[in-house]
Amino acid sequence: MDFELSEEQKSLQLLARKFAMEEMLPEVAELEKRPDGEDKFPYDLVKRGAALGFHSLGVPEAHGGDGASVLTQCVVVEELSTGSPAVSKVYSHNWKGIAGLIAVATPEQLARVIPAYLEDPLYCIGIAITEPGAGSDNALPFDADPAAGPALSAVRDGDSYVLNGMKQFIAMGAQAKYVTAFARTDRSVPWTKGVTGFMIFPPHEGFEVGRLHDKVGLRCYPQHDLIFRDVRVPVEDRLGEEDRFQEGRKSVVNVGTVEATATSLGIARRAYDLALSYARERVQGGKPIIEHDLIGALLLEMFTRLEAARTLLWRAAWSIDEGVSDQKLARATKVLAVETLNYMATRAVEIWGGMGVMKDAPVEKVYRDAIQLYHMGNTNQVNVLKALPHL
Ligand SMILES: Cc1cc2nc3c(=O)[nH]c(=O)nc-3n(C[C@H](O)[C@H](O)[C@H](O)COP(=O)(O)OP(=O)(O)OC[C@H]3O[C@@H](n4cnc5c(N)ncnc54)[C@H](O)[C@@H]3O)c2cc1C
Repeated sequence: MDFELSEEQKSLQLLARKFAMEEMLPEVAELEKRPDGEDKFPYDLVKRGAALGFHSLGVPEAHGGDGASVLTQCVVVEELSTGSPAVSKVYSHNWKGIAGLIAVATPEQLARVIPAYLEDPLYCIGIAITEPGAGSDNALPFDADPAAGPALSAVRDGDSYVLNGMKQFIAMGAQAKYVTAFARTDRSVPWTKGVTGFMIFPPHEGFEVGRLHDKVGLRCYPQHDLIFRDVRVPVEDRLGEEDRFQEGRKSVVNVGTVEATATSLGIARRAYDLALSYARERVQGGKPIIEHDLIGALLLEMFTRLEAARTLLWRAAWSIDEGVSDQKLARATKVLAVETLNYMATRAVEIWGGMGVMKDAPVEKVYRDAIQLYHMGNTNQVNVLKALPHL
């Protein structure tokens, strides 16, 4: 067993760390201050990170990208997320979108997305699953209840499908130049047997980007409503066979799960770094608070949990690269990482004392970002429910 990163992984790790600390951290702090409802998307940072290679990193070599392994992606995402999980998510969400597409699309369909993505550093990919009435239901196989799951309807009409309905919380909905939309082609059966994937290239007649959701954290990583009013999609833009979308995606589910886990780990590390540096500087009772036993013990507990989460994540990522991954490990790791993250963020705020909740101190942002991860890459409850059958 070898836990040593390769020279290439180490140099990518350093590159990501430098970009995260020197450029992302200060610029995102400023962008975040823009008022609610205003566009805070980090266009300039995303472009500069693309010039360093982060846009193409997770795209397989066979499709013109850099073909980083899942483990390498996780190492880079952890680093980038210490600077800004919002900017990091832009890249990793796009890689996830491409991995999902490769699993289901034809070569002709891929040729309409991936080359354009690689050429354009601001090409973003939307993955439109969640709806106002269907969140966790889109991930859980409620086999007896056809009412559960996506309601966005797609009705065949000659050589096209007509889509009506809406999606909500869709990452980069306004920035996306390509969107994979999950629509219901058969409402008489459970959604796992009646959902079809469609390619949408905005702008598209009848397709509208709705409200921008104002979140407390990850404020530079936007989510939008997407509205479909008689959106006509040609049959050539259907992904795979009608009603069979879910089967095609199974092979990439674990990639999406570890991606959110690596994001969690990066924010958790930022929480630890902030807690440690403050505890070394802040003097109470005549000595730095790190020298008070209770604070020292708290920091050691944070260190232990962080290392445990990273070790498990690396193992989950490695097992995907080796083709031996199972849902249980990837999902259990995400649950552990999100619990670790929220433990770390709360402890960091605690160690910072009253300063911890002040807006001009950096630690409150970590706390606001941390709670977002409960809902990304599936909720803890959904991950537990989906891991259980594999015990
Ligand atoms: C920052 C962010 C980015 C996002 N990006 C995207 C995106 O790009 N595309 C997209 O499609 N969606 C996206 N989402 C939406 C996300 O996938 C959903 O929020 C998530 O799936 C949960 O759905 P929900 O919010 O409807 O919660 P609900 O499904 O209503 O769940 C509420 C609570 O009930 C629990 N629960 C639900 N059902 C069960 C059950 N059967 N058993 C036990 N507990 C249960 C859940 O775990 C949760 O704790 C994003 C969300 C956020 C916050």
